[in-house]
Amino acid sequence: MPEISIVRHPLVQHKLTIMRDKLTPSIEFRRLLREISVYFAYEATKDIPLGTLPIETPICAMQAPVIEQKIILISILRAGNGILDGMLDVIPTAKVGHIGLYRDPISLQPVEYYFKVPQEVEGKDLLLIDPMLATGNSAIAATTRLLALRPRSIRFICLVASPEGVAAFHRVHPTVPILTAAVDRGLNEHSYIVPGLGDAGDRIYGTK
Ligand code: URA
Repeated sequence: MPEISIVRHPLVQHKLTIMRDKLTPSIEFRRLLREISVYFAYEATKDIPLGTLPIETPICAMQAPVIEQKIILISILRAGNGILDGMLDVIPTAKVGHIGLYRDPISLQPVEYYFKVPQEVEGKDLLLIDPMLATGNSAIAATTRLLALRPRSIRFICLVASPEGVAAFHRVHPTVPILTAAVDRGLNEHSYIVPGLGDAGDRIYGTK
């Protein structure tokens, strides 16, 4: 059964509402995305295994829990970088990859223009990030590309998803869980999520 988790924490939902408001300026939009992404980072890593490290507190010696594996974040350009910043705030030692895709105007299929990921992807757990899961085409293409490198797992993290995007993604990648803050009503004729929040890249970077 394909897995989708929706973050229903009131603080996350409240911040998302402010982000959806068309009057919210880029500086505020970016700051809120960063804050929500910190929560995503905690949620997406809640099951990773812990080892132990011998340390001395001011009181005594102890075996203390530590994360031993390297976490790898993969950002789908350009809007993924808005989530990346918040995740790096709390996972500063993560390795980071970037995947750039654009939509071919004729075939409407994603075309890769940039691909740079850490060498040690094989056998690792990857967090793939992009704020909007709309048609699902970019997320599907990025996941297909990454699975060819034989990671141990991939988890896809987005801020807002459409039901069409979730269905399309899980049709192709049923074993890849999705973590999101909302599944909206659907897509409009321009493949924007409704009600959504507009173009995430434009809202993050003030390009419109
Ligand atoms: N990409 C966006 O940034 N927003 C949408 O609504 C759909 C795709």
